[in-house]
Amino acid sequence: MFSLVFSRRYAMAHRLIAGLSEKCAIPHGHNETVTVTLRARAPAPLDGGANMVEPFERAKSTWHRWIDGHVDHSLHLSADDPLLDWFAAREPHRLPRILVTPGDPTTEILALCMMAKLNALLAAEGGRLTCAAIRIEETPTNTVRFEGDPLAFLPRPAPRRPWWQRADMSINDLALAEAGR
Ligand SMILES: [Zn+2]
Repeated sequence: MFSLVFSRRYAMAHRLIAGLSEKCAIPHGHNETVTVTLRARAPAPLDGGANMVEPFERAKSTWHRWIDGHVDHSLHLSADDPLLDWFAAREPHRLPRILVTPGDPTTEILALCMMAKLNALLAAEGGRLTCAAIRIEETPTNTVRFEGDPLAFLPRPAPRRPWWQRADMSINDLALAEAGR
């Protein structure tokens, strides 16, 4: 079976406040690379004409638009982080650039949220492809890899359709919360 594998690099910052690492409780940044493995939902032989699973550009353009325009240079915070209140009070116009995760924004949960987001984007574009695996290199020596159903590995059910299940460019649900939806 064929796999299409795409990599993209982005800069991000985060902090972890659950208490397992005091060092990581101070906001700090990483240059990360995310690599996704896409497969056809209905694998088929090459057709003898175009001979491709899906044009690369079509398979990756929305995903890379999200990474480049919304994940690159974003700040990742736990939904429980009081810094969210600080931004809401002082710099609310920057809230769309804060990626919010249920619990600490580790590389593990980022991998799950990103993979779910990619699957939502692919489903909205006809569902011919699905993401079979994701890999995030946090540093050149630390990598998290996941394959399977990301929704089954998230820590707790979301109250409504969270940003990682919506086929839009969002990285949090703060605007929805404000609008009272
Ligand atoms: Zn870190």
